[in-house]
Amino acid sequence: MQFLIIYLACFAFICSSNGSVVKKGYFWQVTDFHYDANYSTNGNPNTMCHSDGGKSHSNSIYGNYLCDSPMKLIISAIDAMQSIHPNPDFIFWTGDSVPHVNNSDLDQTKIYYNIGNVTEQLMKVFPNTSIYPVLGNHDEYPKDAFPPGATSYYSDILTVSQWSKLLGENEATVFKTGGYYSSLLNPNLLVLGLNTNLYYGFNPLTQNSTDPSGQLKWLEKQFKQAQISQKKVIIISHIPPGLFELFSGLMWFSNNFNEKYVHLVSQYSGIIAAQIYGHEHTDSFRILKDRSGTPSGMLFLSPAVTPWKSTLPGVGSNNPSIRLYEYNRDTGEILDYHQYFLNLATVITTNKDIWQKEYDAKSDYGLTSLNPVDFMQAAQSFRNSPKLFKKYLQYNSVSQNLNPVCNDTCKRVHVCSITELRMSDFNDCLNKPNPTLNPEPHSHPHTTPRPKAHVPRYMVIVICTLAGTVFVLAVIVAIICIKKHTVFIPHQYSRFSSPVGKGPIN
Ligand SMILES: [Zn+2]
Repeated sequence: MQFLIIYLACFAFICSSNGSVVKKGYFWQVTDFHYDANYSTNGNPNTMCHSDGGKSHSNSIYGNYLCDSPMKLIISAIDAMQSIHPNPDFIFWTGDSVPHVNNSDLDQTKIYYNIGNVTEQLMKVFPNTSIYPVLGNHDEYPKDAFPPGATSYYSDILTVSQWSKLLGENEATVFKTGGYYSSLLNPNLLVLGLNTNLYYGFNPLTQNSTDPSGQLKWLEKQFKQAQISQKKVIIISHIPPGLFELFSGLMWFSNNFNEKYVHLVSQYSGIIAAQIYGHEHTDSFRILKDRSGTPSGMLFLSPAVTPWKSTLPGVGSNNPSIRLYEYNRDTGEILDYHQYFLNLATVITTNKDIWQKEYDAKSDYGLTSLNPVDFMQAAQSFRNSPKLFKKYLQYNSVSQNLNPVCNDTCKRVHVCSITELRMSDFNDCLNKPNPTLNPEPHSHPHTTPRPKAHVPRYMVIVICTLAGTVFVLAVIVAIICIKKHTVFIPHQYSRFSSPVGKGPIN
């Protein structure tokens, strides 16, 4: 009987182990295409590679570090996604399809069609994959100016830019109220597509509003409902909260929105599996902490497709990038991510668009998992491990800058941006003798869930095979014994029925 129980337990374990293998899924994130229809291989790199009165320049057909993306680069990036992992569970597209040109060179209609062109390319290559889009600050005209209420702009994005083909009817209805929506990724997991452009410090229309487009109230309701129905949530949006790691003191949201937003996501960090953003064009991450300072959530900031060199002083270019995530379909937990890139420096000489793996987050950062405690440890070790920090800096530009120079102050800004999402905490962190990375992440072992230890699968199979063999042998021995008992033991003591035709003695 004991063998039977062990055997059944092992069988159940194998089933659940099998289940967890099946539960691992993949999804793509692609962001900041900044498609420039006026990119020209003959154009002047100092004027966004636009035509230059007949003068001839020689830009690669896939782009230039000083310019936004030609359609060739957009197609190349989407085709690379398809050839690297053709059947993702879904794609997160985190905004900014419009080029960095003056407002005078754009109008509302151009914006709609620009976004629509990218929509078409994604749908063409991934016709059977769910694509979840969010709006970037450049996806409005004039740029950054998202109004605090509902507007026909959102309806036009659905029709002219064809997002109604990406979003379901319910999602589209909510989207019309402010450019946000929620959608079920699977029965256990919800995606909340947000419009954080409403909180952008450069948005001139929402600074006097307390809750533009009612998004914060809606967001809290979504969190509460998810909590009641025991679902996990992944947040996707364009602009992240917190500060830019390459420009000290630049916070993306205006301060009151940043406080409100960080407070809200901290409050519900237990059900938020991950937050995924674009906007910065650089590769970085942020760690959310709870009231006690314990790491409680991860914000993944994926780099851009456009290689465009920022106009912010000290911020350079990046190589075009795409990111593949591995996640647990039940819990939404990010298990790993794989960063791919196109080395534009090579492409410029060869004109061949060969996308390659840049790094795997888990192994290259030496993490045991992608949970916030482990990422906090990695950020801490940036202080004492120049090698790891150099690696992070290289990835920060998507390997565009292979020898980044970063002095102590620069390092502090990086580390404090990663670990502090609020301006006051960031300033405290900068001004402390050592960047504040306290409290020690492991000082709260009971409040921070850590992933369960995994028994290697081969061990489970070996143990269960042995247990099964022992069980079968035990059954055979038992049968032999019973047969012997039928010869030597009087039937009245046997637990088994008597041979046919022979009644029990006596
Ligand atoms: Zn952008």
